[in-house]
Amino acid sequence: MSRQMIVGNWKMNGTRQAAQALVASLVDRLPQGSADVVICPPFTQLAPVADKLAASPIGLGAQDCHQAVSGAYTGDVSAAMLADLGVGHVILGHSERRQGHAELDETVREKAVAAIRAGLVPVICIGETAEQRDAGQHEDVLGWQIEGSLPEGFGGVVAYEPIWAIGSGRAATEEQIAQTMAFLRAELIRQFGETGKAVKILYGGSVNAGNAPSILSIPEVAGALVGGASLDADAFLSIVGAAS
Ligand code: 13P
Repeated sequence: MSRQMIVGNWKMNGTRQAAQALVASLVDRLPQGSADVVICPPFTQLAPVADKLAASPIGLGAQDCHQAVSGAYTGDVSAAMLADLGVGHVILGHSERRQGHAELDETVREKAVAAIRAGLVPVICIGETAEQRDAGQHEDVLGWQIEGSLPEGFGGVVAYEPIWAIGSGRAATEEQIAQTMAFLRAELIRQFGETGKAVKILYGGSVNAGNAPSILSIPEVAGALVGGASLDADAFLSIVGAAS
C-alpha cells in the first residue's frame, strides 16, 4: 500500500496567532519520512500558513471551494484562487456543508470538477446519519453519495465520515470501519471500474491519538481525516506517527 495520508481539518477555528503557533510546532516536530500530511485551515489563515509551510513537506488544503472559476458569488472562493495561494487539496462535501449549507451531491460533484481543473486534489466526504445506520440503510446511502458526488473517472481521495462519529468522541468500531471500507472499495470498482481501485479512502470521525493506531491498521484505510485532534500539535503528531 502507498503511504498513508493524515488530513487535519481545522474547521472554523484558528486566529492568526493560534494558527501560526500550531503550524510552527507541526513544521518543527514532523518526523522525517512520516505519512503524507495535509492541514486545512480556514480561508483566512491559508496565506499565512502557506508562507510557514514553504520549506516543509506538509501540504496545504482548503475546506471548500466554489464550482465557478470567478464571478459574482459573494463570499465564495474558487478553486483557481486556492491553487494560486499554493493550496494542493480541498475538502468537499463535508457533512457540515451538506447539512449547514444545503449542499447536494450534484454541487459537490461540480466543485470536484472545478477543483481538478484547477490542479487540486479533492477530498470528497461521504457518510451516513445515525438513523440511516440504525435502519441498515448506510450502504445504500453511501452508494448514492458516491454515484452523485464523484466525477467520472475520479482518482482522488474519499473520506468516509459517519456523521454520528464526527465530534462525538465515539469513533466507529473497527468492525464497522472494516466492513464499510470493504463495501466502499467494491462500490467504487462497481461504479468506476479500474479507476475505482486507485481512490484512497480515509476514515474520519473522532480519530484521536488513542484510537489512531488501531484505525490506521484496518485494511483499506488509507489514512484519516481529523477534526478536533488536528488543533492540538501533540495529538495530531501522535496520529501522524501512527500512520505508515
Ligand atoms: P472530529 O475528528 O472532531 O470528530 O471531526 C471529524 C471531521 O469532521 C473531520 O472532517
